Amino acid sequence: MAFESLSDKLQNIFKGLKKKGKLTEKDVKDALREVKMALLEADVNFKVVKTFVKSVQERATGHEVLESLTPGQQVIKIVNEELIKLMGDSNNELTYNKDGITVFMMVGLQGAGKTTTSAKISGNIKKKGKKPLLVACDIYRPAAIKQLQVVGAQLDVPVFTMGDNHNPVNIAKAGIEYAKNNGNDVVIIDTAGRLHIDENMMGELIEIKESLKPQETLLVVDAMTGQDAVTVAETFNEKIGVDGVILTKLDGDTRGGAAISVRSVTDKPIKFVGMGEKLTDLEPFHPERMASRILG
Ligand code: GDP
Repeated sequence: MAFESLSDKLQNIFKGLKKKGKLTEKDVKDALREVKMALLEADVNFKVVKTFVKSVQERATGHEVLESLTPGQQVIKIVNEELIKLMGDSNNELTYNKDGITVFMMVGLQGAGKTTTSAKISGNIKKKGKKPLLVACDIYRPAAIKQLQVVGAQLDVPVFTMGDNHNPVNIAKAGIEYAKNNGNDVVIIDTAGRLHIDENMMGELIEIKESLKPQETLLVVDAMTGQDAVTVAETFNEKIGVDGVILTKLDGDTRGGAAISVRSVTDKPIKFVGMGEKLTDLEPFHPERMASRILG
């Protein structure tokens, strides 16, 4: 399960702090050095760790904390608050077009979980009484179209496809026309990913984005890939602009680094987290909950 080893380490550090009773500035500094190591080992981005530890240190070595009756507890409280701040506010709501069709464009590398997450989102939206349509624009990955059709059928969400012989921009446009004619109010575009970021993929995504002007461009990244996930998020955000990030595979044995770094590196909110392969395994992202999971 995600964060287990990070949580264990932090708990040990904090246990030591609490045991001491009264703390000196040096005690706090030593403990924070260990926190720093634990975060780095959990694959949290180096710059993020540095800033984080500095802010905690500034707040935790003041008189108010050190001379309080429970300085250890105070330090933990500060770590918790700073961790929440780092992962952002709870602005994870999707925005909808008030008049007309809402378009969500899903982007990300191949294997990140784009197709699965597109379906998961469509299922959530459907439960809210909306009428989603999934549009298959991943014409390169073998079986991507079929996969979308299968998951769409499981959720009873319609899937618009034109096979793999058309330009993705045209498919997306035709998908929106289809939605207009069939009473669908939310269109979710499953775009193509590659194994690595490349110019062609980015060019295609930019073209789709410019032509559709989606309400939300949602980047799907695999939390298991740690710092790479953060680099991917940074690059996608720079090149095509994203409105939110979805971190998948947080149910796996990830070290947690991506969850902690993505927000502060990209300044884009994490909107959802993928917690499994089932189509119901998608949760809104709550920084407070994530922080308490990390701190144990
Ligand atoms: P795409 O290439 O980005 O469209 O990726 P897919 O949607 O095909 O997902 C790749 C693999 O990751 C599939 O086997 C999915 O079942 C799996 N997957 C996606 N999201 C999650 C998640 O949140 N947790 C787990 N454990 N697996 C996931």
